[in-house]
Amino acid sequence: MQNSVTPTHCPYCALQCGMNLMPAPDGTVEVGERTDFPVNRGALCGKGRTAPAVLSSRVRLTSPLVRSGGTLVPATWDEALDRIAEGLRRTRTEYGPDAVGVFGGGGLTNEKAYTLGKFARVVLGTSQIDYNGRFCMSSAAAAGTKAFGLDRGLPFPLEDIPKTGCVILVGSNLAETMPPSLRFFTELKENGGTLIVVDPRRTRTAEQADLHLAPRPGTDLALALGLLHLVVAEGRVDEEYVERRTVGWEDARAAAMAHWPEYVERITGVSVPQLREAVRMFCEPEAAMVLTARGPEQQSKGTDTVGAWINLCLATGRAGRPLSGYGCLTGQGNGQGGREHGQKADQLPGYRKLDDPVARRHVAEVWGVDPDTLPGPGRSAYELLDALGTDVRALLLMGSNPVVSAPRAGHVEERLRSLDLLVVCDIVLSETAAQADVVLPVTQWAEETGTTTSLEGRVLLRRRAITPPDGVRSDLEVLHELADRLGVEKGFPTDPEEVFEELRRASAGGLADYSGITYRRLAEENGVFWPCPADGELGGAPVADGEPQSAPLADGEPQSAPLADGEPQETPLAHDAGHPGTPRLFLDRFATPDGRARFVAVSHRASAEEPDAEYPVLLTTGRVVAQYQSGAQTRLVEELNAAAPGPFVELHPRLAARLGAAEGDPVAVVSRRGRAVAPARITTAIRPDTVFMPFHWPGEGRANTLTNPALDPTSRMPEFKTCAVRLEAVRS
Ligand code: SF4
Repeated sequence: MQNSVTPTHCPYCALQCGMNLMPAPDGTVEVGERTDFPVNRGALCGKGRTAPAVLSSRVRLTSPLVRSGGTLVPATWDEALDRIAEGLRRTRTEYGPDAVGVFGGGGLTNEKAYTLGKFARVVLGTSQIDYNGRFCMSSAAAAGTKAFGLDRGLPFPLEDIPKTGCVILVGSNLAETMPPSLRFFTELKENGGTLIVVDPRRTRTAEQADLHLAPRPGTDLALALGLLHLVVAEGRVDEEYVERRTVGWEDARAAAMAHWPEYVERITGVSVPQLREAVRMFCEPEAAMVLTARGPEQQSKGTDTVGAWINLCLATGRAGRPLSGYGCLTGQGNGQGGREHGQKADQLPGYRKLDDPVARRHVAEVWGVDPDTLPGPGRSAYELLDALGTDVRALLLMGSNPVVSAPRAGHVEERLRSLDLLVVCDIVLSETAAQADVVLPVTQWAEETGTTTSLEGRVLLRRRAITPPDGVRSDLEVLHELADRLGVEKGFPTDPEEVFEELRRASAGGLADYSGITYRRLAEENGVFWPCPADGELGGAPVADGEPQSAPLADGEPQSAPLADGEPQETPLAHDAGHPGTPRLFLDRFATPDGRARFVAVSHRASAEEPDAEYPVLLTTGRVVAQYQSGAQTRLVEELNAAAPGPFVELHPRLAARLGAAEGDPVAVVSRRGRAVAPARITTAIRPDTVFMPFHWPGEGRANTLTNPALDPTSRMPEFKTCAVRLEAVRS
């Protein structure tokens, strides 16, 4: 135990609730209320409250494991690391650097995500790196970048929500995913504002709405277009704003006008009067917001769907103004920071693009390498998993459990099995780790220091509060040891603050500029919103097509000092940087070259898989409050398992009657990719044409056995939110 009370943050979702950790009588830690963090003011959901139980779980790994004769057996760290290094070297020699893949996670700290990206490009020389955050919010990131020139989940702090006039919450069940955030919406209503929830299910969040719109899964693009049609038809366009702050309106307007209300009603199932009421509620107040989450994003048209909601904001003058705007409710703990610092297939730190020569020069100088040696963009997450065993022969995986969380998970499991070498760093023998050739036991959140970036774009410091058990090492130590064994002795420090200092330099001048942020500021200021440049000047103007790119410097040269002898750049940045950070973006201008937001003309199209005679029902997937993502951590906690012991199939009584299923009866859900079985949960809170399954469990009830890996053409995000299935009664 480092201190009697350690202020820190929850290890789970992107709300990153503040909490205190204190010594427990049994030598572990317990959670105490931390009221100074403004987002949750001491409130925690059950996951956060019970998080310490995972630290002392009896199934915690404390020794490396290596596969011998088909079985995983304990090994020393040297044996395990030597075996990995030898396997990676052999794969590179036999098949080339791109035969080695790296798969990261949206739960990794900024320091780990940064180091993992650097390790892939500098040590392995591979382009084949991506992460599970691709499954989480990449469509919103792509749409936000196209429209605003920059992707930061929320461009304003959560504390603005209660002060606006109306919020449309699209495809988000905050009551289950981020319960402490609900108070912002309660306060909104107490202040006279209104809440519209768009969700095919009448969730606990939808129950709190003033208006609940329940479109058929996969049709919220049409819904947003129908609302924009009515905005135009009813003369509610903010013409002055559109003229002054946007481009591309005419094409977007024409696309929306093709989606007249009765047509949209037929596609979505949302009635014309409900559409009109939503438009009235959204347009009448001075200010309003649209917030999206996985519902509209996890679709094969997710980027266009989010783009349509952004268009609605732009046409009504509700973006880049006080208390108005579009935001994405990022899901994973460091889903925001994880997408900024280089573990994405196409990205370098600071939200720079890997195919941008200026960005490559800047980052290569910080890393002390020739920019020409940096590989180009690689495959997206699902495409990478799909290539395992063929183009990609070895995989290093950190902070992810794709056997449960990836779409078409049975296929992904097969691909993992076909690898020559699978290395997994984890705290327990997750379903993915159980398939590995080498498993490395690593430290957890409270046992290590590091930064995360919340859904608000607020960079936060998580502090080490407890000594890790003997036998485990941090992910940074793992990467340091592997780099050393693969011939790169410098540049992979194990101290998180040292990594962060390098990350500051690497991000300087990029869109996600952290150069003015220090550990000391994070501790003193309770977090700092990026961009926060060290020199007080914001950089990172995007290029014309709306893709992020680092800002060209004055003479076209990178900002970093030239290197001597290929050594990493050590030029220090100011530690008492004066920039206050940027809680609110876009108030003066958007992050585009001309400062104007871009309308993107989009039209409704069908989902990749629509119901037919063979598969007549729609499946949508999601979460429950007591489990987190693949459940690798939360399934270890007794209290959470008691609350949410296993998967279920939520279905409407009419569908249940057709099937002859009663509450609790096993129901088989069959898609073109496989079959899952789980008990029926019968409720009128879901549309009769749709079933819902949570995705936190492996085995027979694994929802992702069924899901469709059809990818959005821009974000490469899979279509978790809708696919066609049939139901079968299961007779015992
Ligand atoms: Fe943790 Fe999210 Fe729950 Fe807050 S809402 S306690 S961050 S899981």
